[in-house]
Amino acid sequence: CRASGEVHETSLRKDDLPVHGLSETIVGVLGGGQLGRMLCQAASKMAIKVMILDPLENCPASALAHYHMVGSFDDSATVQEFAKRCGVLTIEIEHVDVGTLEKLEQQGIDCQPKASTIRIIQDKYFQKVHFSKHSIPLPEFMQIDDLESAKRAGDLFGYPIMIKSKRLAYDGRGNAVAKSEEELSSAVNALGGYDRGLYVEKWAPFVKELAVIVARGRDNSILCYPVVETIHKENICHIVKAPTDVPWKIRKLATDVAYKAVSSLEGAGVFAVELFWTRDGQILLNEVAPRPHNSGHQTIESCFTSQFEQHLRAVVGLPLGDPSMKTPAAIMYNLLGEDEGERGFDLAHQLIGRALGIPGATVHWYDKPEMRKQRKMGHITIVGPSMGIVEARLASMLKEQSLDCQ
Ligand code: ATP
Ligand code: MG
Ligand code: MG
Repeated sequence: CRASGEVHETSLRKDDLPVHGLSETIVGVLGGGQLGRMLCQAASKMAIKVMILDPLENCPASALAHYHMVGSFDDSATVQEFAKRCGVLTIEIEHVDVGTLEKLEQQGIDCQPKASTIRIIQDKYFQKVHFSKHSIPLPEFMQIDDLESAKRAGDLFGYPIMIKSKRLAYDGRGNAVAKSEEELSSAVNALGGYDRGLYVEKWAPFVKELAVIVARGRDNSILCYPVVETIHKENICHIVKAPTDVPWKIRKLATDVAYKAVSSLEGAGVFAVELFWTRDGQILLNEVAPRPHNSGHQTIESCFTSQFEQHLRAVVGLPLGDPSMKTPAAIMYNLLGEDEGERGFDLAHQLIGRALGIPGATVHWYDKPEMRKQRKMGHITIVGPSMGIVEARLASMLKEQSLDCQ
């Protein structure tokens, strides 16, 4: 795995170039949220046409997509209709109708990454079983079906214990912590009960949470981005620091685990591998997202090839780009909804106003129609000559703000 610094020799000669755009393949994206929006932004630089499928008429990607089909990515007939119009089908969210993708693949539709990958990822328990079969280090885990099995897990793993919903989880909605046996029932109820499909994970006593974006081309070439640190607040990604300040050995181990995890999955695209660096020096895998990810947003400003451009290059079959950093340091700060409605917009706009005056800062606003508490509304990336300087710039941006920089 080439982590950084090396650039692929392009094999594309002038005569091979398509009539318009860097690739004539029309990329169909299931989902039109902020990730879809940033894919469209990257596509416009390369004149690649992106179509999106999303039920929301004014979803973040809608205004920037070549074509927006309004409909559900979880509805079989709609996904089939959409697929007919695209050269390659990809995702910006894994909670799609994977059964239909499998059927479409049998009919010759090109899905990248492969439906098999999406099936593994969209059920977190199944994902854990898959990675454990491939000898990827993970926190211990166990399915729970009733209070008795939950108690058994507590006895086995100790407390606190992390209870997780197997499916449809994001931004920590689907996680509940039980600090003792007495809290098991309330934590399970908060997740909607055992019928929702739950499992538990042993608590990972992490020093830092790390993440690695891994890109795989259609020719199976794999490139890894530099390891970053992710800082979560109430289970939601809040800050990303690139590169992370960890010993060389840990960086290497994190990259190796990420490489191995992605190698066990099928298809082209970028994959985000979330990891725990534990107190006893282990790297444990938390989860994988088979698509661009929040931990890679800073690559837009800080790397030679952003994760979004890389995903497009990968799925259409262009050579992968250089993932290494072109700035010494970068921090990504998520703009999470502070309040509902107008007051939330006011607070976000105050912060954006300050960010616009910070050297090296770039504001991304997703244009979501509704402001909600803890919702990802945008992000700000700050780059600079050292992590110390970037941290100081972030602190000055957050001055007089209730939001804290950890
Ligand atoms: P995402 O938005 O990344 O998809 P998610 O809803 O899938 O989030 P997870 O990634 O499973 O949720 O967990 C969210 C956060 O909760 C993690 O980043 C970590 O901070 C914490 N967490 C998850 N599992 C554990 C664990 N076993 N031990 C300790 N902390 C954990
Ligand atoms: Mg997740
Ligand atoms: Mg996660």
